[in-house]
Amino acid sequence: MSKSLRIALQKKGRLAEGSIKLLEQSGLGIFRNPGALTCRARGLPIELLFVRDDDIPSLVAKGVCDLGIAGENVLLEEALASPEDQGLQTVRSLGFSFCTLKLAAPKDSKISGVEDLRGARIATSYPQILAKYLKENDIIADCVPLKGAVEIAPALELADAICDLVSSGATLAANGLVDFATVMKSEAVLVRSNNVWDDEREALLRRLLRRMDGVIASRATKYIMLNAPKSAIGEITELLPGADAPTIIPLAGREDQMAIHAVCRETIFWDTLEELEARGAQSILVLPIEKMMG
Ligand code: ATP
Ligand code: ZN
Repeated sequence: MSKSLRIALQKKGRLAEGSIKLLEQSGLGIFRNPGALTCRARGLPIELLFVRDDDIPSLVAKGVCDLGIAGENVLLEEALASPEDQGLQTVRSLGFSFCTLKLAAPKDSKISGVEDLRGARIATSYPQILAKYLKENDIIADCVPLKGAVEIAPALELADAICDLVSSGATLAANGLVDFATVMKSEAVLVRSNNVWDDEREALLRRLLRRMDGVIASRATKYIMLNAPKSAIGEITELLPGADAPTIIPLAGREDQMAIHAVCRETIFWDTLEELEARGAQSILVLPIEKMMG
C-alpha cells in the first residue's frame, strides 16, 4: 500500500470552512460523513483528521498527523505552553482566518493604554502569549484565564481588561469595549513536524503544495478584459495592477478599438476601474481565476 499523508484540521469553527475549501480547490474530494472524525480524501492519498484547533499543534508535533492547519495564535500559545511540543515548521501562510489578538477595556474605563494595565486583571484565552507580551512591556498584571466568552468578563466584573481575538471589531463594540493595543496578528498556516519523512511523503507534500500555491496565488489574481481606444492602449495597460504582458486583440468591425486581456496579480480596486473608464476603456470585465500554474 502506498504511503499517505495525514492532515489535522479543525472539526468545526472559524478555521474549518477555509481549510476544507483550500483542500477542495487543490483537487481533493472530501466527502465527510456527518460526525466522522476521519475521512480519506479522493484525488491524492491523504487522510484528514477532524479535531479541536487547540489539539492540532501537539498532534503534528508528536507525529500523529504529518501536517496541520491552525491559526498562528494557537501555534504560539501551544509552543509557549508546551516547549516539548516544539519543532513545528510553518510550511505556508494560507491567507484566511485573519484576526488580531488585541487588548481592550470598557470604553468608560481608566485603562486606555498598555501602561494602565499595571495591577489590572486581564481576561484571556491566550495566557501564555499575554504573559510574554506583558513581560516584554515590563508590566505586572493578573491574568484571568477563560476558555470562551472573554468579552463579557469586564461586565461580569471578572476582569478590568481583556486580551482577545478580533476580526471586524463588531464583538468588541457590542460589548462596550475599545481596543488599545495589538498583541499579535494571525492567519491560518500549514505546519509540519520536524520529523524526517520518507521520499514518498516528501514528494506527496510537494505535489500538494504546488496545487495549494496555485490556489493561493489565484485568489488575489484576476483576469481583466476590456475594450480600449487604440490611442489609449499604452496608458491603459500601465494602469493594470501587477499585469504580465497583456494580450491585445483587434475587434471585428472597429478600426479604432482593441480588446485588452490581462492577468492582474494584484487586487483591482474600484478606483482603478474608474481610471480605466476615464481613459476610454469600455465593457470592462474582471473575472476570478480558479486555478493557476506557473
Ligand atoms: P475549537 O472548538 O476548535 O477549539 P475555538 O472556539 O477555539 O474552536 P474558533 O472560534 O473556531 O476556535 O477559532 C479558530 C481560529 O480561527 C482562531 O484560533 C483564530 O486563529 C481564527 N479566527 C479568525 N477570526 C477569528 C475571530 N474573529 N475570533 C476568533 N478567532 C478567529
Ligand atoms: Zn480552540
